[in-house]
Amino acid sequence: MSTLPPCPKCNSEFTYEDGQQLVCPECAHEWSATAAVDAREGDKVIKDAVGNVLQDGDSVSVIKDLKVKGTSLVVKVGTKVKNIRLCDGDHDIDCKIDGIGPMKLKSEFVKKV
Ligand SMILES: [Zn+2]
Repeated sequence: MSTLPPCPKCNSEFTYEDGQQLVCPECAHEWSATAAVDAREGDKVIKDAVGNVLQDGDSVSVIKDLKVKGTSLVVKVGTKVKNIRLCDGDHDIDCKIDGIGPMKLKSEFVKKV
């Protein structure tokens, strides 16, 4: 017998298969077994403000003034940022900005150039 993934809602290990669906007997949550696998295998897609998919090494420009946390510096709208690196977390872009240094940006505040 194959091991089924635990319930994504309540973490119950007593999930069972019902056709293409997985069912949790404890919280009655049902979900698709195939969708669960797809979500795990696919890389997280990070998109810019207008929906372009961003990749490591892309260049972006900042679409609004952004205060740099803990400093009086501001990354001005239109600032070009080269060679971004995608990362996990709330701020999902790691980069280095001329005159400011290494910092993290939110993908929703940049546009691919
Ligand atoms: Zn459950």
